Amino acid sequence: MEKVVSLCKRRGFIFQSSDIYGGLSNTWDYGPYGVELKNNLKRAWWKANVYERYDILGMDAAILMHPKVWEASGHVQNFFDLKSDCKSCKKRFKSADLKDKNKCPECGGALTEARPFNLMFKTYQGPIEESGNEIYMRPETAQGMLVNFLNILDSRHPKLPFGLAQIGKAFRNEITPGNFTFRTREFEQMEIEYFVKPLDADKALEDWITYRFNWYLDLGLKKESLRKRSHGKDELAHYARACTDIEYNFPFGWSELEGIANRTDFDLKQHSQYSGRDLQYFDDSTKERFYPYIIEPSGGVDRAVLAFLVDAYNEEKVRDDTRVVLKLHKDLAPTKVAVLPLLRNRPEIVELAKKIAQDLKKTIITVYDDTGAIGKLYRRQDEVGTLYCVTVDVQSLEDKQVTVRQRDTMLQERISIDKLKEYLSNKLT
Ligand code: ATP
Repeated sequence: MEKVVSLCKRRGFIFQSSDIYGGLSNTWDYGPYGVELKNNLKRAWWKANVYERYDILGMDAAILMHPKVWEASGHVQNFFDLKSDCKSCKKRFKSADLKDKNKCPECGGALTEARPFNLMFKTYQGPIEESGNEIYMRPETAQGMLVNFLNILDSRHPKLPFGLAQIGKAFRNEITPGNFTFRTREFEQMEIEYFVKPLDADKALEDWITYRFNWYLDLGLKKESLRKRSHGKDELAHYARACTDIEYNFPFGWSELEGIANRTDFDLKQHSQYSGRDLQYFDDSTKERFYPYIIEPSGGVDRAVLAFLVDAYNEEKVRDDTRVVLKLHKDLAPTKVAVLPLLRNRPEIVELAKKIAQDLKKTIITVYDDTGAIGKLYRRQDEVGTLYCVTVDVQSLEDKQVTVRQRDTMLQERISIDKLKEYLSNKLT
């Protein structure tokens, strides 16, 4: 884990937030490579769930919502963790994490009794800070889709089963954030609300568990590091009838990447009651009105990025050297191609390399780098997971060919410059 955290900082994937001020604890900024990786991950999710399916529509709801939403959803009453404070060192702990409920795990001091702590961030809307103006930062993206159920029915007229998909920020005032980006107070979720006839819910849940599990595998997570774990009845959230987590074997142990839950008709019924609007679905064929059940695959973007980084991290012996290589799936790699001049003091080579890079950039994410000797440049690209390095040398000036090196195998091929774009495009699709 330390090696991944260090690579993330060294190469510009993830930085501590507000670093020059000593950092804001457990808050992270994505740098130039991090934002590409994260965007690629979100794009892959959107493609698999919105573009490649016929039954899901995309959405992007606001972070701020009417406060009644969170009363209806149960978050005001139920979104609590129990916490205890140490009477000596004043540190705060999540009761669920404590082996001994009476003793501070850090200094051995006495703990207060466990008290509920609501995880929602509160703020004020408008210029006056008074209780009537209190609103919440959403703790999940789900409600933004659920409260739009009627708008979607009225504007797009989908038939059951259908779903809504959204990626966006969520905020939870976690008591014990940590493990790098695994648990933070500000994070991104990718969620689907899939509406089904109540009788179809069990099968839909199973189908979604399989579909979502395979998505992680298809993008390259190692099979032995991924597992499904279904929740015991005592673990279920207040709205859920059944839930299975997809877990990844992080360096700190098996932990949740995504939860897939059967939310039943809880949400639509609650929002009908609290809003006074009828959120039932009318089935044309049977002339029945009913509340659909909801199957919800809910994953974390940051946790997935972390899992893919940890999974892709490799150290390999190459002769007397160790190379660090991020073996990210081609769809996730932040940069696809790097163009490198073999001799940076030869203007004709530099010029040709820059021209090749410029031309590739129009269709392929390409960087140009001439800031070191070739061995160093290769290592640098390996560390950030660049799939192909294109090297321009003296001979390229004569035979109009370049050397293309593949990241994982390090095998090299000479390719004619006028075939290069086609060659790389074929490899990358
Ligand atoms: P946990 O048990 O780890 O707190 P959860 O079961 O409360 O998670 P859900 O409410 O199911 O999480 O949220 C769905 C997904 O959102 C999680 O699977 C996770 O990927 C992501 N997520 C939730 N809380 C956080 C957080 N504090 N930091 C980063 N990602 C989070």
